[in-house]
Amino acid sequence: MGGSTRVLTLGERPDNELYQLALQVAMEPLVWPLLNKQGIELIVRRDDRIDAELCGNKFYKLFFNIQAAKNAGYTRVASFGGAYSNHLHALAAAGYRYGLSTVGLIRGEQSAHLSPTLEDARRWGMTLCFLPRALYRQQGSTGLETYVRERYGDVCLIPEGGANPEGCRGATVIGRAIEVQLEGAYQQVCMPCGTGTTLAGVAAGLPADKIAVGVSVLKGAGNLGLGIERAYCAVASSDTHGASWRLVSGYHGGGYGKKLPSNLRNFWREFELETGLQLDPVYTLKMFYAIAGLAQGRYWPRGTRLVVIHTGGLQGRRGFEAQIDW
Ligand SMILES: *Cc1c(COP(=O)(O)O)cnc(C)c1O
Repeated sequence: MGGSTRVLTLGERPDNELYQLALQVAMEPLVWPLLNKQGIELIVRRDDRIDAELCGNKFYKLFFNIQAAKNAGYTRVASFGGAYSNHLHALAAAGYRYGLSTVGLIRGEQSAHLSPTLEDARRWGMTLCFLPRALYRQQGSTGLETYVRERYGDVCLIPEGGANPEGCRGATVIGRAIEVQLEGAYQQVCMPCGTGTTLAGVAAGLPADKIAVGVSVLKGAGNLGLGIERAYCAVASSDTHGASWRLVSGYHGGGYGKKLPSNLRNFWREFELETGLQLDPVYTLKMFYAIAGLAQGRYWPRGTRLVVIHTGGLQGRRGFEAQIDW
């Protein structure tokens, strides 16, 4: 598959390995007049570039999950996601690279053509298993677990999106790295949220004088906050305290994976033309749209130095790009 120069041998490396990689991630000033004219400085953390295939926050969320699976002696891991899932894409790449067989449990019936995401996954050897929506919704139930084990044997099941303590622990490394790379000279860190695992981890890894802001891309993120607080408490260590976190909603643009409304499509094109920074349609696009909206409402005072995490997902542009008149 090529492309990647950093090849880890998971299962043998200490925590520190992920931290060392995180310290090398570029922190780039973003020239974006809309924000800059308000005296807000943006620094984009390029986690979309941390790895060629295992990109973005999924790299961090899978790191300790793969390590734990290997340490427990599993040879096969399975997880859940939709047909465009960044998580399944990254899991397939990780399995291929680290010698674990992978099973993708996919939401909904198989359509006539595989998505580009699933094409890649299959190329990396992932077994694709399409679950009817009613069955897919039973995630976490013993019934579905039995169903999976009957078909695929003794698999290590990772929750959708890598939303577990191992995933959250991986994300804490992002927070720790940011603080060291910028020597504390910033006030807030912004990122998009699906399950909120990344937000919880990043906040827990940042020091107490900082604020982590998550933009929810989900419509009706009902008890998302409760899940974030639980995940945060599970990984926050008493000696570092951790930052406080906030969740911003109302910028889901119709909901997860839905056809983009015209305001978002226009923003997407204009933002990329103006800044040269590529976004994914599901997460980072909505985050930057939210940042524009929040700035217009004077959410951040003049002089704020804001770190924005580019959480990746660019593989998901395929199939969406047709919606945009570039
Ligand atoms: C999965 C994903 C997220 C959401 O991460 P959570 O930890 O589930 O909140 C954000 N951005 C991108 C690009 C993703 O792929």
